[in-house]
Amino acid sequence: MTGGCRQNYAVSLRCLNCDAVHDLRETTYFCSKCGGLLDVMLDYESIKNRVKIADILRRPKTMWRYAEFLPIDVSRKVSLGETLTPIYKAKKLSEKIGIKNLFFKLDYMFPTGSFKDRGSALMVSRASELRAATLAIDSSGNAATSVAAYAAKAGLECYIFTPSYASLGKIIQAMMNGASVFRVKGTRKDSYDIAREACQKFGWYYCGFQTNPYVTEGMKTIGHEICEQFNNDPPEWVVHPVGTGSGLLGCRKGFSEVAQIGWISKIPRLVCIQPEGCAPIAKAYKKGRNEIRYVRKPKTIAEGLMIGYPLKGKLVLKALRETGGLSETIKDQQIVEAASWIAKIEGLFVEPSSAASVAGTKKMLDEGLIDKNDRVLCMLTGSGLKTVETYSKMVKKPKTIAPSMKALRKNI
Ligand SMILES: [Zn+2]
Repeated sequence: MTGGCRQNYAVSLRCLNCDAVHDLRETTYFCSKCGGLLDVMLDYESIKNRVKIADILRRPKTMWRYAEFLPIDVSRKVSLGETLTPIYKAKKLSEKIGIKNLFFKLDYMFPTGSFKDRGSALMVSRASELRAATLAIDSSGNAATSVAAYAAKAGLECYIFTPSYASLGKIIQAMMNGASVFRVKGTRKDSYDIAREACQKFGWYYCGFQTNPYVTEGMKTIGHEICEQFNNDPPEWVVHPVGTGSGLLGCRKGFSEVAQIGWISKIPRLVCIQPEGCAPIAKAYKKGRNEIRYVRKPKTIAEGLMIGYPLKGKLVLKALRETGGLSETIKDQQIVEAASWIAKIEGLFVEPSSAASVAGTKKMLDEGLIDKNDRVLCMLTGSGLKTVETYSKMVKKPKTIAPSMKALRKNI
């Protein structure tokens, strides 16, 4: 690797609640003192002295080019050929919704069709370093699919625990990757509990997006990339559809890191968009509350955002407040409308969860919360090909015609 970096600057794990320091080899990923979630701490002084923008720019255009910030041995990474995801200027849609500069980050252009690959790549690389043989995750969507793909590449066994009510369609991709899937009777939390317990009993490595700190270490490359792609002058607003909050929090950490070593002077304002049928974080933020009230029965077309119990909810609130951000709720109908604009006006096909970021931007513009002269970047996190079933209910059936011009003319 040109100008490569083999050094890992991780020093410890730190509790995000009480600041207690834990050993890096710890894999329970909960603070033994207070039960808080853990974060990977890096030696930013050394990184600052060692890393040069020019070196990074000479490396291959992948998320791994930010090697100094990644707490694994990058020379032994588990990779599926990730690239830097494009920044796309949505010129026609900007005009339609009345804003000067609307950008998309096409994060669905990752190997499994979802931005979750950033987190999985780091988690599975870490699992390999720790010589884990088996991985486990509780999820029925993009996260499970993503972890299964990286597990296949690493040659690791992968168990997926999903609630019994979840449709199997969403995890066919993971099953093709060789993952073993268990449908667990009961609630979403029952799947989580059994995955955690199995990891403790059998020594499996837990790859949950809500708790494993290496998720943030992968997702933070969103922030690094945005800074680089905007020549260290990132847009005023970065809008995230939020389920677990892993993307928004990763982005926040990425921005903080590059600010800390002096590459940017101002961190963009972060926005959290959630559907009305599952908006535990957005509702807390709008009401100025500090505690997250869980949603017991989430209901929305945006399946990726159906996280009624976001363990990192308070951290998202903190990130929004610290960056002068915003949070908004949107109706399913607005999500569908935005997905249709993105497809018909810009030619991009994304899943409903991704369209939520554009629907939210439109709402905030209409309410005067965002200035039309500000630059806004919406995260498009998952491919529409993952939710064809959902969209199939919204499009008209094609007409069947006789193979003649007469029949065609009649139907045009
Ligand atoms: Zn603690």
